[in-house]
Amino acid sequence: MTRFKGWSQFRRESPARGDKVAWLDGLLVAASGVTIVMDPVKLRKLPESARVFVSHAHSDHTRGFGHKGLKQSTVETKNIHSALNRQAISNFTAIDLNRKVSVDGVEIRALNAGHMLGSAQFLVHTPTSSILYTGDINCVDTLTTKAAEPHRCDILVIEATYGSPIYHFPSRETIYAGVVEWAVEMIKQGCVPCLHVYAAGKAQEMVRLFNVYTHLPVVVNPRLDGVNEAYRKGGHSLNWLASNSDDGSKILERDPCVYITTPGDRRSIGRKAARAFATGWALSMRGRNAAFPLSSHADFEQLVSFIKACHPEEVYIFTGFAEELRRTVKSELGLDARAVPMINQRKLFEDY
Ligand SMILES: [Zn+2]
Repeated sequence: MTRFKGWSQFRRESPARGDKVAWLDGLLVAASGVTIVMDPVKLRKLPESARVFVSHAHSDHTRGFGHKGLKQSTVETKNIHSALNRQAISNFTAIDLNRKVSVDGVEIRALNAGHMLGSAQFLVHTPTSSILYTGDINCVDTLTTKAAEPHRCDILVIEATYGSPIYHFPSRETIYAGVVEWAVEMIKQGCVPCLHVYAAGKAQEMVRLFNVYTHLPVVVNPRLDGVNEAYRKGGHSLNWLASNSDDGSKILERDPCVYITTPGDRRSIGRKAARAFATGWALSMRGRNAAFPLSSHADFEQLVSFIKACHPEEVYIFTGFAEELRRTVKSELGLDARAVPMINQRKLFEDY
């Protein structure tokens, strides 16, 4: 059996068969002589023969694209990553949602995670157990994604970004209505409503929101342009203008419009701007700007329901409020649950 120095922050081994499930800022499953790693952050200790799976295109999950060996993700995840980073990815094979990949007796299935275009959970079947790694999940339908569905598994490895009871999100429709009402009101007051959101996922949901519910032109920060194209390629109907295009810059200068940009963008748009954020953290934010609790993650209750529906024997919880969620899973669901060390949590103002 291969030994991985340092890969022991949690480790579950079945010595008779040589299976191993371990965590080091990413999930490792070693069975039948195959090593699979999902969303690894540290690549130094990874043997080149390991197969890397990337769950989605947010930068805290995509370090694995730098691995020398074989890498797999959905083609949408690769396209969005390439649009954001202009990075060519070699030694890559796409994995389709709901399709199985078999490697020497180990099966890997990518399942919709509902978090952003192309986002996947990975369900791994080894000869002795089934392991579901969720990556980031969202359990409600949005204008650009379908809700993630739970799957039966022996071992569940799940995120807990909003795994505290203080995070209970209002319905999507209520939040959508609030964003549109606010934008229209700001325009009436002579401002350009500027929405600060993550460049990949939330930004495209915002573009779609204004396309569907208003006739307002949507101008975007050029950084969003390539990701919007990847969504269009993925079958989403989005209409937008980049602020560095002739038409986009003219509209932004003088017409009623909405501007969608990244969380940290403070550049002047040359007109009076009304700024707002759209993030799950809005429920715990204090500040002068408007903030809408629109999240691409499951809230606390959704996480608990999801875990229950997977019927796991063991639950490992990473990132965010892992310890709070662990306590609830243990006390309310009676499941064997452990928190694993945090991966780098996205920061609200981090651009990617
Ligand atoms: Zn994410």
